[in-house]
Formats: sequence, structure tokens, C-alpha cells
Amino acid sequence: MIETDRTAFADALGAIFAENHLPMPSEAQAEAFYRLTEHLLAENERYNLTAITDLPGILLRHYADSVCCAQYIPEGVTLLDVGCGAGFPTLPLAIMRPDLRITAMDATKKRVDYVAGCASLLDLPHVSAICGRAEDLARGELREAFDCVTARAVAELRILAELCIPFARMGGVFLSMKAKSANEELAAAQAGIGTLGARLTSREDFSLTGNGETLDRVALLFTKTRQTPPTYPRPYARMKKKPL
Ligand code: SAH
Repeated sequence: MIETDRTAFADALGAIFAENHLPMPSEAQAEAFYRLTEHLLAENERYNLTAITDLPGILLRHYADSVCCAQYIPEGVTLLDVGCGAGFPTLPLAIMRPDLRITAMDATKKRVDYVAGCASLLDLPHVSAICGRAEDLARGELREAFDCVTARAVAELRILAELCIPFARMGGVFLSMKAKSANEELAAAQAGIGTLGARLTSREDFSLTGNGETLDRVALLFTKTRQTPPTYPRPYARMKKKPL
């Protein structure tokens, strides 16, 4: 159950987005966020989708945090969200960016079913959801098929890069949003990212604020300049044991 009515919800959403210089949701977009929140909270009791259940927390840590990566995604591209979980960043991005064609991927069927259900409930026909492990699906027809690949809170950068970069087409980008650990993760992952065929082309540090909190964020954009060698991605156990 949401603790507020639609008007108070739309005001709170607008305030958090404004504070963080994010595009203002239209009335229809605010309504989609309201229905997403209702659905998330209702299904959370059954499926355990998120630990964040207070409204200010959801607005900042799920919605604003998902939408803040939109500024790095060009108009009209195909986007893959690896490890979408309960639909972050997929669903907030899809609400704010109807121009994108988004594929949400997760290894867990119940999360994929939930995200597909949300897409249909919210009338987001530009979202599709696929169940499978990234390291398996990257060996099929989705390899090098996306303009942009992203992932939130899935793995440390060395492993994440091996899961994500194979899906980016030549000239496409891998967008990784990290928190404070970005520097160490980047230092450890740079060489491996080169092996996978990409290089860091932009980095932006900023913070998200709201509810008296400040969340440090680093947007790392890697551009694919060479094909990923066919040996990657390796089986997950190998990646974990011997990260690139
Ligand atoms: N992106 C979401 C979920 C993070 S939890 C968010 O930010 O809230 C991590 C998710 O990644 C889980 O749902 C898990 O099932 C998925 N995942 C982890 N490793 C994966 C892999 N190798 N392939 C596909 N999904 C994976």
C-alpha cells in the first residue's frame, strides 16, 4: 500500500526529480510511477522484490537512481539491462524514455515474469523481458546486438564487464553506474575491459540527493572498439575465480 494519494505522490516524485535535475515526469508518467509503486509493494509481499519499501526511499533509490543514467543514453537506441531484478533501471527508464527499445534480462524467472507483467500493466510495449544467464545468452543471437548495455547492482566491474560487453555492438556502449567503489573497481578492471574490446570514453561523478541523504554516483561509459574474442564470456565460476 502506498502511504499517500496520487497528487501527493506526483508532488513527491516531481520534487525528487527536480532536486536532481532529472526531466520532469508528465502527468501520465507520474501516474505510471504511481501504478508501478502500487504493484511493486503489492507483489513484494509475495515475491520479495525489494528491501526498500518506504516511499521516499523508493523515489530516490529506485526511481531517481534509475532515471539518472538516461542522460547518457542516446535517442532511439536498443538497450539491454543485464540483471534487471525487479526492473531497475528498466522500468523507470522505460516510463521516461519511450524512444528506447529495452530488453530486460535476468537469471531468475520470477523476476523476469514480474518485469514483463509490469510492462504490460503500464503499457510499455517497448520493453521485453528475457530469462537466462548473461554468460549463456551472450553466446547466442543477442551477442553484439545492442547499442547500449547497462546493469545496476549486479557485480563488481571486472565481472560485470565480462557479462555486459559481449552484448554491445561495435561502436556501442557499456554504461556502468557505480558508487564510491568506482575508482578501485575501475583500476582493477581496465586491462580486462581492453581484452573484451572496449575502452573508457567518459566518466562523470555526481551525487543524488533527497530525504536528507547524498548518494555518490559515477557514470562510466565504455565504447566497444573491437569485437569481443569468442572465448568471452567464460562460465560464471571461471569469471569469479579468475576475474579478467
Ligand atoms: N538491477 C536490479 C537488481 C539487482 S540484484 C536493481 O538494481 O535493483 C542482481 C540481479 O542480477 C538479480 O536479480 C540476479 O538474478 C541477476 N543476475 C546476477 N547474475 C546474473 C547473470 N550472470 N545473468 C543474469 N542475471 C544475473
